[in-house]
Amino acid sequence: MKIGCHLSIAKGYEAMLVVAESIGANTFQFFTRNPRGGKAKAIDPKDLETFKEQLESGEWGTLVAHAPYTLNLCSKTVETREFGRTMFLDDMNRLMNFPPLYYNFHPGSHTGQGVETGIKQIVEALNDMPLANFPGWVLLEAMSGKGSEVGSRFEELAAIIDGVEHNERLGVLMDTCHVYSAGYDIMNDLNGVLDEFDRTVGLDRLKAIHLNDSLTPFDSHKDRHAKLGEGSMNAEGLLRFVSHPVISSLPMILETPNELPGYKEEIAWVRQKGE
Ligand SMILES: [Zn+2]
Repeated sequence: MKIGCHLSIAKGYEAMLVVAESIGANTFQFFTRNPRGGKAKAIDPKDLETFKEQLESGEWGTLVAHAPYTLNLCSKTVETREFGRTMFLDDMNRLMNFPPLYYNFHPGSHTGQGVETGIKQIVEALNDMPLANFPGWVLLEAMSGKGSEVGSRFEELAAIIDGVEHNERLGVLMDTCHVYSAGYDIMNDLNGVLDEFDRTVGLDRLKAIHLNDSLTPFDSHKDRHAKLGEGSMNAEGLLRFVSHPVISSLPMILETPNELPGYKEEIAWVRQKGE
């Protein structure tokens, strides 16, 4: 099982590997830059070299680089869309020098333009990105559908992927809290949901998991993460989820409200009960 959590990049790349090991993680996620957006810190080439060497010599699952939350490729405001494209392109260019990893982003919020226009603008932006040369995969995160979020329905994710010319390396990251809040009952009908995903998007596109419980009820279209077993989803259902043959081989990232000791406990719990 490849499981880890979101880690701070503040002390550099190699430092994240050290922290991950100390909490029993064999994969993890980090923000490419300040999650609110803005300029990314310069990468120390020595740090990156050591990081690459250690990644290759260890048993690491594919890492997840998360785009800033503010990145919105389908805002009604042109400047916001442009800013999103600039950050996306800059992130991709930086990650070109990395071992293959997942670059995960929230598809966007259409801010009143309608889902169709939102999908069209996301597709246009992705078609302008150097997808064909990217060593890893770009992942669309499945969203909860709060506000005007695009990508809370599997059909919307499929429409984006279908519209992109170089979609060979486009995939989906499924956040358990988001999909449950979006109305996909992975607690009581996991096989049904995965079948539906397979029919619309295709299970070969499902690449990574955000493993979270939800503070709000099923189908609530909210995005409030809870610790595993402390939300509306329940521990047994989450363990069934991580043990499912379709899911168990994918990197799983905890984004639960925890500090490192709490993450360490959750990782140990999932490993012990879910394997
Ligand atoms: Zn996310």
